[in-house]
Amino acid sequence: MRNLGSEIVVATRNAGKVKEFEPLFRQKGIAVKSLLDYEDIPEIIEDGDTFAANALIKARAVALRLRVPAIADDSGLCVDRLNGEPGVYSARYAGEPSNDQANNLKLLEELSKLPAEGTQSLSTARFISAICLVDKDGQVVSAVEGYCEGEILAAPRGEHGFGYDPLFYITTLDKTMAELSIEQKNEISHRGKAIQALWSDLDKR
Ligand code: IMP
Repeated sequence: MRNLGSEIVVATRNAGKVKEFEPLFRQKGIAVKSLLDYEDIPEIIEDGDTFAANALIKARAVALRLRVPAIADDSGLCVDRLNGEPGVYSARYAGEPSNDQANNLKLLEELSKLPAEGTQSLSTARFISAICLVDKDGQVVSAVEGYCEGEILAAPRGEHGFGYDPLFYITTLDKTMAELSIEQKNEISHRGKAIQALWSDLDKR
């Protein structure tokens, strides 16, 4: 596998994402740093139309600022009965600043406007994660995606995770994402799958 060194900077201030990345990189002997360790990096404007475009914007901004290889995940929830919303706007669905609880309430509010289907699931949905790894000059080394299929519940369940996890139900496990440990979530999540795709891609180099 292409050598990533012993440390990588993940272009995020989301502590939930950092906690999920840490064990995935630790398995490869790589320590994770994030923007929580570099407070002086200004806010990065994510104005891409796709998860992949935003992942590149974030990874490149951090690499060029710190002059180190960087990785970014841009991710979100796409709800079928809302025509793919909130999608790339997942973090700020209920407005700025980003607030998980307000986003979950807004999601339930939008779904409540649709005709009831009489099931515990309000809609099918998927989490998508686009991950981009760039070198210290901001050139793309690898760009991959991962997906996780699920359903949106009418009421939250579970205490773990972040974002929409308490409303995201995985039929095969009979659990929401927020009822899984970090290790269990990494095995099935969009982000975990994208990182597996990253390792496979880097293995080919
Ligand atoms: P980003 O930091 O711009 O990529 O925004 C990601 C947003 O998508 C988060 O703030 C969450 O609202 C949502 N999201 C992404 N991944 C997850 C996840 O694993 N669980 C729950 N929500 C997620």
